[in-house]
Amino acid sequence: MTSEADEQSSLAARLSAIDERIADAARDAGRDPAEISRIVVTKFHPASLVEELHALGVADVGENRQQELSAKQAELSALDLRWHFIGQGQTNKASAIRRSADVVHSVDRDRFADALHRAAVDDDVLDVLVQVNLTDDAGRGGVVPEQARALAEHVLALPSLRLRGVMAVAPLDEEPASAFTRLRTVSDEIRAVEPSATWISAGMTGDFVEAIAAGATHLRIGSAITGPRPDRG
Ligand SMILES: *Cc1c(COP(=O)(O)O)cnc(C)c1O
Repeated sequence: MTSEADEQSSLAARLSAIDERIADAARDAGRDPAEISRIVVTKFHPASLVEELHALGVADVGENRQQELSAKQAELSALDLRWHFIGQGQTNKASAIRRSADVVHSVDRDRFADALHRAAVDDDVLDVLVQVNLTDDAGRGGVVPEQARALAEHVLALPSLRLRGVMAVAPLDEEPASAFTRLRTVSDEIRAVEPSATWISAGMTGDFVEAIAAGATHLRIGSAITGPRPDRG
């Protein structure tokens, strides 16, 4: 028998277990756990789950599709949550993304940055990260590492965007540690241009320990906390 209360308590247990593993990994890497942010990826789960997470003290949530982000953010706008957009962004959705997101992790080309900038209202400033493609597959999201610095410079020229750092997903066919080392190198290059762009968004359920060892500041963790994602239908 599962009741709503049981579900809530197992969610709480998974969340605290992950937070313990994050703290352990940080200490193993000689880092202060307090400098690492844990974003809970809630894609495909209902807004009610986000509400439960909020009740457990979660402040940062991530979504990868604009429509789902917009719907959940609108439904839960009374809650004090930071919404992170982590999916591939279409230029024609930039305005909707900007309305709902507090941080966009997936700026992967000049045109998307330009579209986010054009969608600014008054003098609001949006936090963004340059997404780096660590795979050989150009179809995956992200700019190739060699062009990341040029994209960062493009973003820096857009006053309504604040460049915070870099983001990546580890390839499936490579040790995450070596992939995250390349991301760290890109982060160093970008920080040479903009010292305040210190965020490294990396690490998911399967590889957050390696990401922490490589210097990740923002982890994007889904299924280990939320449980398996419901069918996309
Ligand atoms: C879904 C997703 C995650 C979380 O993945 P899990 O393996 O469930 O932790 C992280 N980052 C991105 C970009 C995602 O799309």
